[in-house]
Amino acid sequence: MAPIKKSLLVANWKMNPLTLKEAERIVRSLEHGIKSLGKKDFISKIDLALCPPSLYLGKLENSPLFRWGIQNVHWETRGPFTGEVSLKMAEDAGCRYAIIGHSERRRLFGETDAVINLKLRAAFATAVSPILCVGENKEERKKDQTSVVIRKQLAQALQKVSVLSLPKLTIAYEPVWAISDMSGITSTRADSPDDIMGISILIKKILTEFYHSDVTEKVRIIYGGSVNQKNIDQFIEVKMVDGFLVGGASLTVFDFLPIIRKVYERS
Ligand code: PEP
Repeated sequence: MAPIKKSLLVANWKMNPLTLKEAERIVRSLEHGIKSLGKKDFISKIDLALCPPSLYLGKLENSPLFRWGIQNVHWETRGPFTGEVSLKMAEDAGCRYAIIGHSERRRLFGETDAVINLKLRAAFATAVSPILCVGENKEERKKDQTSVVIRKQLAQALQKVSVLSLPKLTIAYEPVWAISDMSGITSTRADSPDDIMGISILIKKILTEFYHSDVTEKVRIIYGGSVNQKNIDQFIEVKMVDGFLVGGASLTVFDFLPIIRKVYERS
């Protein structure tokens, strides 16, 4: 069943590949692969956002087939923040999307919901559309706290976010335990389609606690967690999912093109 909103497929390359040359090769082969599908209406059906390491942004060849995204940002525009990149800089480098609150940022770099809220609000002040990641970890899952965790993450991330900004928002549900470690083996187990649909409904419901449903309907909800060419079929038909966030499988055309094709076909 085709989704109501335009599909969004996000490639999170994390800290890969090792060289700009290799990144160029991936971009070229993806472009070639998509062109070989011969779908003239591709751009009108899918927003395909590539999120390479920020050092490569602005250096990779542009193609109308792609949007660019950044994996992390600072909320201030400029200043003494060594090692950081601002949303304005991302905007200037051609980014249309920013991943905010990825579980690796939360877990490995101590990002709190308060910091994520600052980043989200900063994104809404630019032309960059935020992709807010939420999701429970294994322990929380075991304790049946998924909905409590997601409600808390959303409530805090969306504090003081104006209703006018909401249509620009994408929420990525990424159960932490389902994300691969990119060692070549994808995660233990991806989430079941029923679970994902249930969580999408939950996210929508939580949003309507803060905003009118006319507006929350415009928020895209995507899923991420070891999506690959072997399991995409089980996720593609999930109603209320507007796309996917893909890590490991987005680094090779062999793995990513079948996912792109499937998302195109259902769009
Ligand atoms: C991610 O990092 O957001 C992700 C979904 O990764 P993977 O697809 O490798 O699990």
